[in-house]
Amino acid sequence: MAYVSVNPNDGKVLETFEYMTSDQLESALAKAESCFHSWKRTSYPERAAIVNKAAALLHAHVDDFARLETLEMGKRRNEARGEVKLSADILAYYAEHAESFLAPAKLHPQVGEAHMESSPLGVLLCVEPWNFPYYQLARVAGPQLMAGNVLVVKHAGCVPRCALAFEKLLLDAGAPVGAYTNLFISYEQSNRVIDDPRIKGVALTGSVAAGRSVAARAGQNLKKSTMELGGSDPFIVLDDADLDKTIPWAVWGRMYNAGQTCCASKRFIVLDAIADQFLAKFKIALEALEPGDPMDEKTTQGPLSTESALVQLLAQVDAAVKGGAKVLLGGKRIERPGSFMQATILTDIQPSNPAFRDEFFGPVASFYRVKTEEEAIALANDCDFGLAGSVWTADEARGKRVASRVDTGMMFVNNIDWADAELPFGGIKNSGYARELGNMGIQEFVNKKLVRTGRIAAPV
Ligand code: NAP
Repeated sequence: MAYVSVNPNDGKVLETFEYMTSDQLESALAKAESCFHSWKRTSYPERAAIVNKAAALLHAHVDDFARLETLEMGKRRNEARGEVKLSADILAYYAEHAESFLAPAKLHPQVGEAHMESSPLGVLLCVEPWNFPYYQLARVAGPQLMAGNVLVVKHAGCVPRCALAFEKLLLDAGAPVGAYTNLFISYEQSNRVIDDPRIKGVALTGSVAAGRSVAARAGQNLKKSTMELGGSDPFIVLDDADLDKTIPWAVWGRMYNAGQTCCASKRFIVLDAIADQFLAKFKIALEALEPGDPMDEKTTQGPLSTESALVQLLAQVDAAVKGGAKVLLGGKRIERPGSFMQATILTDIQPSNPAFRDEFFGPVASFYRVKTEEEAIALANDCDFGLAGSVWTADEARGKRVASRVDTGMMFVNNIDWADAELPFGGIKNSGYARELGNMGIQEFVNKKLVRTGRIAAPV
């Protein structure tokens, strides 16, 4: 069975969906292509009315959307509500700002006049992950629909109900058939979609392996792609940090969404002078979490999204231990129904350990003790990923200096307020390329066309 909705709190199958047939896929692509020709001619206010309506519907039904997500991938109720509201904010943000972001921009050539104008490219394929089942869709749908593009979307195999709910949201908001189409397709079908001449661009959020495969395919077809991939973000604690303020962020940064966030804090790099205190307090705070049903408002740690995600994470911890790491806390599955992992702290991770380079996509914190700020920066940068990171210090100027020297796409000083509609999101190195959100996000799939005018005599 291709797309399977399973409740990770108890392992029960909720619903299954087959892959689309070739005919269904062809029909979906034909409708998307046909829709593009009319959608691109709609005005910004016409598009904004639909995208704003979708935002309003999300706000009006926060609990229903959140519940679906909690059932399907285990995000705690409150976190899920937050995600639904953020998704609505992203849609509303682009409804408001798209026209000004894409307005013609005057240039100043030495001769004549010139401007740049922006026009949509066409049908885009978006491949999206399960860890933010709506927010990831809003990140592409908001800007791209407002830019005049249309989307066909391959969502992750474990969140088919959320995938359908988001498609219905846009149809309910008045989007024409073909403007946003969910595709239940295999990797092989996805490759065929990328090859299809009607597809003009590909956006993927997911793992490095998926990024390599999909970006390569897009590249063979000379199609523009954006890649939002994994991360192993440093959480750098300087020796003057206020631990009472820092520890709650450390817990949130590692444990939000049961640790399954691309830009979660994954490597805790702490200056020696403060390391023992940090570690003791961090351990106590993680021990205080209460695993349980993510539907229950009292639960402070939910399950992982799927059983296979848990099995993979446990294997990574085993490999880390075989490689010489020590388990200061946790390290095992929680003995209860569902796919729960103990909050875990690994220490003594040497560069030769696979844990030094790998991304832990779950509640596993890697702890590193360093002697100096220089050493902290060097360790933060000794990483194949470059998504985000944070610095914790009483001296904001010092924090900014350190942040400037860490090689990532995003840095945070004394907070990890990761995403807002207006702030560009994305990474470098194996974390991918291009940006979503903000003004940058809407510029990724438009033709930036130069138009030059002026009566200039032909060269002789
Ligand atoms: P994943 O396995 O790469 O899946 C992501 C999406 O890609 C899913 O829809 C998946 O489909 C699809 N996919 C995977 N391989 C494919 C292929 N060869 N061809 C076509 N589609 C393919 O990632 P995940 O494990 O679910 O998600 C977690 C990863 O995403 C982490 O590494 C995380 O850091 C990253 N992430 C990054 C960001 C960001 O903005 N940078 C945000 C969120 C997550 P199936 O589900 O059907 O396999």
